[in-house]
Amino acid sequence: MKQFHKIIAADEVLFREGEIGQCAYLIDRGRIAIVLEQNGESQTLSELGPGECVGEMALISNQPRMASAIAKEITTLTVITREHLHERLQQSDPFVRHLLQLTLQRYRQAMGQEHVPVLSEFAGTMENDDESLALSRMRTEQALVEALHNRELVLFFQPIVRLRDRVTTGFEALLRWQHPGEGLIAPDAFIPVAEDSHIIKEIGRWTITDACRCRKHLASQWEGRLDPDFTVSVNIAARQFSDRQLLPCIRQALLRHELPAEHLRLEITESQVLNNWDQALNVLLQARALGCRIAVDDFGTGHSSLAYLNRLPVDTLKIDKVFLQDFLTDDASRKIIAGIAALAQCLGMSFIAEGGETEEQIELLESLGVEQVQGYYFGRPFALD
Ligand code: C2E
Ligand code: CA
Ligand code: CA
Repeated sequence: MKQFHKIIAADEVLFREGEIGQCAYLIDRGRIAIVLEQNGESQTLSELGPGECVGEMALISNQPRMASAIAKEITTLTVITREHLHERLQQSDPFVRHLLQLTLQRYRQAMGQEHVPVLSEFAGTMENDDESLALSRMRTEQALVEALHNRELVLFFQPIVRLRDRVTTGFEALLRWQHPGEGLIAPDAFIPVAEDSHIIKEIGRWTITDACRCRKHLASQWEGRLDPDFTVSVNIAARQFSDRQLLPCIRQALLRHELPAEHLRLEITESQVLNNWDQALNVLLQARALGCRIAVDDFGTGHSSLAYLNRLPVDTLKIDKVFLQDFLTDDASRKIIAGIAALAQCLGMSFIAEGGETEEQIELLESLGVEQVQGYYFGRPFALD
């Protein structure tokens, strides 16, 4: 990212009306007058000070500067180049890019400048795909807000079974969207959009509350096959760590449904925590202090920095189903599973293998020291009646 500083003396001209500009300036110190020259006379349109931006139109248009900028005193500036903007735009949300493009088009129409091309390097960030991607994400986001309020989101539950005695020790709550027109929609089709926006916070709070509500229904439906201290697990996305209402929601849900906190398990993934370490650690320590259990989901598929395991209040490791894909035939996969099971035991943590589908897999998992399994063999995710 190119970014320069520039110092100009009092009365020095930063740029002149009519020049084709290439960059904008952020005033760090000093003052800049925006001046219009008319019939040999100059008229000051405005004066700008620290924190304000000068000449920003040059970043997006080849139009000549519409006024001159002259320093009123010694002024220090940060130079913002088109390249700088281009990099930022490429990293930004497609919807923001799309909105910016629309706003620029409207501006050009209003100014009678439809013919003025947007600079090629800038236009390069505005690919056609952006428009359809941005619009489809926006539609999904809005539809999800409505879905939540229309009670179209439902939790399915999948049992987690202890191999030693085949008793169910918990259930993972997994979201589905019961769409009035399209039927049941799997989470992969909408969770990524929700996780990329603030909607996940509200969805997450609803999920926690509903999972706590459902625990007593699970207890009565599965009577006789359950550990009395069975847990309900909910998935927590990265953005939820910045939700100030998350912990109050957990406390309230536990209280309202008369659940001890150790019956609620929060599932987090390595990358979500590592990308947002301070906030995540703060929330997780508070949740753990309440008594909630915390599982690292998809363990071994992220960055796998083992150092964080010591610092996070984690009590369960869950390995992803990819490890089970070839472990019947692949010796290395078997060693990895046995190794992680031993690691969990060493650290005094529970261990859950995800994705057990066949009797053969279950037997082998048991022989490798795996404590619990969540997989189709013991049950697919189901809805409560
Ligand atoms: P996950 O948290 O890793 O959930 C486990 C997924 O593995 C579930 O898919 C489950 O149905 C599937 N699974 C379990 N056992 C087996 C098996 O034996 N074979 C196979 N092939 N699959 C198995 P699902 O329900 O489609 O959920 C997909 C992902 O969506 C979840 O992965 C999770 O990342 C996300 N998700 C679901 N509900 C929520 C939620 O409430 N909040 C958030 N943030 N994400 C959620
Ligand atoms: Ca999970
Ligand atoms: Ca998982």
